[in-house]
Amino acid sequence: MKKKWLKTAGFVLSCALALSAAGCKNTATDSVLADGDGDKITKEPTELTLFMIKSGDVHLEDTEVFKEIAEKTNVSLKTISSKSASDEDTAFNMLMASGDLPDLIAYNKSKSEFPKYGMEGAFAPLNDLIDQYAPNLKKTLDENPSVRAHVTASDGNIYFIVGTNPPTVASGWFIRQDWLDKLGLKSPTTVQEYHDVLVAFRDGDPNGNGIQDEVPYFSRFPGVDHLVLLFDTIQNWELRDGKVVYGPTTPEFKTAYENIVQWYAEGLIDKEIYTRGSKARDKLFGENLGGSTHDWFGSTAQFNTILANSVPGFDVEAIAPPNGKEYTSRDLVTLLGVAISSSSDKKEVAIKYCDFMFSEEGSRYSNFGIEGKHYDMEGDYPKFRDWVINGDKTAINILEEAGACSGFPAPQDFRYEEQWLVPAAKAGVDLYINNGYLQPAFPILSYQDDEEDRLNKIMTDVRTYLDETTQKWVFGSLSMEDSFDAFQAQLKALGIDEATEIQQTAYERYLEMQK
Ligand code: CA
Repeated sequence: MKKKWLKTAGFVLSCALALSAAGCKNTATDSVLADGDGDKITKEPTELTLFMIKSGDVHLEDTEVFKEIAEKTNVSLKTISSKSASDEDTAFNMLMASGDLPDLIAYNKSKSEFPKYGMEGAFAPLNDLIDQYAPNLKKTLDENPSVRAHVTASDGNIYFIVGTNPPTVASGWFIRQDWLDKLGLKSPTTVQEYHDVLVAFRDGDPNGNGIQDEVPYFSRFPGVDHLVLLFDTIQNWELRDGKVVYGPTTPEFKTAYENIVQWYAEGLIDKEIYTRGSKARDKLFGENLGGSTHDWFGSTAQFNTILANSVPGFDVEAIAPPNGKEYTSRDLVTLLGVAISSSSDKKEVAIKYCDFMFSEEGSRYSNFGIEGKHYDMEGDYPKFRDWVINGDKTAINILEEAGACSGFPAPQDFRYEEQWLVPAAKAGVDLYINNGYLQPAFPILSYQDDEEDRLNKIMTDVRTYLDETTQKWVFGSLSMEDSFDAFQAQLKALGIDEATEIQQTAYERYLEMQK
């Protein structure tokens, strides 16, 4: 396949040379592109072909938002992928194998796949196109070195663009405020106080049924990974003073499990913590059994509304992290990226179209829908109309149906979600953001040659061993104190030092790309 792309790239290159030699490259571009008056990208209506697999059976060009963008810019999309294709990986691999690419290719595995295909010649390098035609994209990359590093391949070229997310927290600690009130307790502000509240939930019958059936701490994510965060580490890669560290090799990790093993033995942690699964909140909040969890702000706070009638007085509120640190920031970039095919004869139009989505106006289409229908401008604040926020569908569903929030790369605006977050969620996000609890996120790194295969192989073995061992500690079938040194030795035997080195090298490369 490599050969085919090189041939394609060579073909494109020789055309470009021929055009330049004849002095007609700019003429060709100028005859297509609009003169820069208003939002029109091209003089005549132009179509860009697109590969993008979306859930649901709607193509972007059939939505009202993308129809209005087409009117405004003179550029419309035509999706070439089938509406019914549900397996994105298979469809993408078939497309690439065919060698017949549309102008724009969108894919969720952009970070791992696009640089490779770009360096093989299938996708156009975008650096010069962005500099020349895409001021909004350029501004985004200039102002966000980590986004630039994310999209830069190891050859220094940019082969795809991604959407951006506002820097914000993903999840946090939630506790039953109504249970605290009932037991006359204050909100815990330290790990010891958090522990003591869980004990009180266990013993004090806060659900008032006369049975000791409360589940003080639970999680819909299997295992105790989130409890580890209380002890200043993470069961994964983290950054400490510019160095990559694997959490389970640190002294903090030992302290974490000394406590967690004890908490489990004390009955403070759900007995089904490893198996309860994704419905844990629905069941344990819904049956008035669950006391505290660590989870997403938006969806957790919604239980106050969902359970208002069935669990009288139900009130779950975010609390500050008892240890003052939160590790679950949201990724600054979206997984889905868009590349421009190297064989496209509309590269300038394509990059300008992508750039429009990063303009103030384009961004409003993707975040808020259509002005006068979904939102109105109040000063410079796009305020959703009441039917969007309080309709019979969720705001997200209404906007997605309209073609907003489509996934096509654009900057996400926090004002989009702050308007429909229920008060308890908004209060939680504000609490975490305004107090600086958020720890630096571990970036998505790129690897060279066989680094990624090697890292994956080591980490697959490490994670399996880690999961098995920590579960034995928690259940008490293996003594943590007696086995901790052997555990560390086994991590080394499985190659954790080599994996850390690979991560450190990739991280230094990532820092280099931000310059
Ligand atoms: Ca009870």
